[in-house]
Amino acid sequence: MLQTPIYICEEQLLENNLKILEHVQKKSGAKIILALKGFAMWSTFDLVGRYLQGCTASGLHEALLAREKMDKEVHTYSPAFKEEEIEQIAKISDHIVFNSPAQFHRFALHVKQINPKISLSLRLNPECSCSPVELYNPCGLYSRLGTTLANFDESIIGELDGFNFHALCEQGVDALENVLEAFEEKFGRYIKDMKYINFGGGHHITKKGYDVEQLIEVIQEFKKRHNNIEVYLEPGEAVAWECGYLIASVLDIIDNGIKIAILDTSAEAHMPDTLAMPYRAEVRGAAEAGQKAFTYRLGGNTCLAGDIMGDYSFEKPLKIGDKIIFEDQIHYTFVKNSTFNGIKLPSLAILKKDGSLHVSHEFGYEDYKNRLS
Ligand SMILES: *Cc1c(COP(=O)(O)O)cnc(C)c1O
Repeated sequence: MLQTPIYICEEQLLENNLKILEHVQKKSGAKIILALKGFAMWSTFDLVGRYLQGCTASGLHEALLAREKMDKEVHTYSPAFKEEEIEQIAKISDHIVFNSPAQFHRFALHVKQINPKISLSLRLNPECSCSPVELYNPCGLYSRLGTTLANFDESIIGELDGFNFHALCEQGVDALENVLEAFEEKFGRYIKDMKYINFGGGHHITKKGYDVEQLIEVIQEFKKRHNNIEVYLEPGEAVAWECGYLIASVLDIIDNGIKIAILDTSAEAHMPDTLAMPYRAEVRGAAEAGQKAFTYRLGGNTCLAGDIMGDYSFEKPLKIGDKIIFEDQIHYTFVKNSTFNGIKLPSLAILKKDGSLHVSHEFGYEDYKNRLS
């Protein structure tokens, strides 16, 4: 019997995505690294590391995981590095990306003394605000992420090896083209002094309909314009896009004007973007409310009133013990999970290519307790 809740990542689906990314690397000459913030299921990193060049980390803990579990390139960025962590970060990183000239002045020399081979980069803000959701817009009004042209400090150019920008969220190639135009207009004159430009994440490369060949062309053209400069992409979501699901069980069904099914999972704790972004997760076999014969509101097993996944209709009435499968729950889910309300964290599992299911981790009371004192 499958214990729920459980996230299941399908190895074959992950590899399909990695093959698309490999095609982009081979044809365009760009290097692709995994953004751990979106997907960090390290039991898959042997596979991921066969295709991608390494990881991008947002601070010490992700950098440690990247070094320990993949041990390829480690690029570490943080909106602000801390004095007490900078030495350790310098030791285990191949690239370090500063968010502001002030952080660069504060730490770059020290970092270079600790690791003379480390590559120094500055994150720039191209001020091209094209993300569809303000919560995920790194270039929105008053953004703290990246240095704007007005805040740029030319005195550090000679010490920099590259630039990073990250401006997109679940977007197509046309959005990248707009960002590149803004980026080159503002910072183009400095590119000749750099060894690489990192185009960040938010490229929805593995989504159906994404124009992969156009992306390859955009990268090739950029490289041509800039003396064959190295280009990096660092997607998170595109690596784990549609690679698996979250399975929950129906615990109870009540009727308070509408039928409500209470599940052994939580939107708030286990599917946080459904509330934060917000968006509606697909449920296997279900449709919009009212389209099929039996409609239910699906709710989480916490005491938060708004812990609701949405209203869904099914062909048959739901009953206690039925399994509900939320599609596409592998990126930006368990990397963000909480033990809010003491609810059990879903297990993590991989469905191998040979059809066997490997449960890599089950969580319990200790995981809840240890976070609280
Ligand atoms: C979040 C983030 C990424 C990955 O973004 P996706 O939308 O998951 O591709 C890459 N780089 C930086 C700096 C990020 O903050």
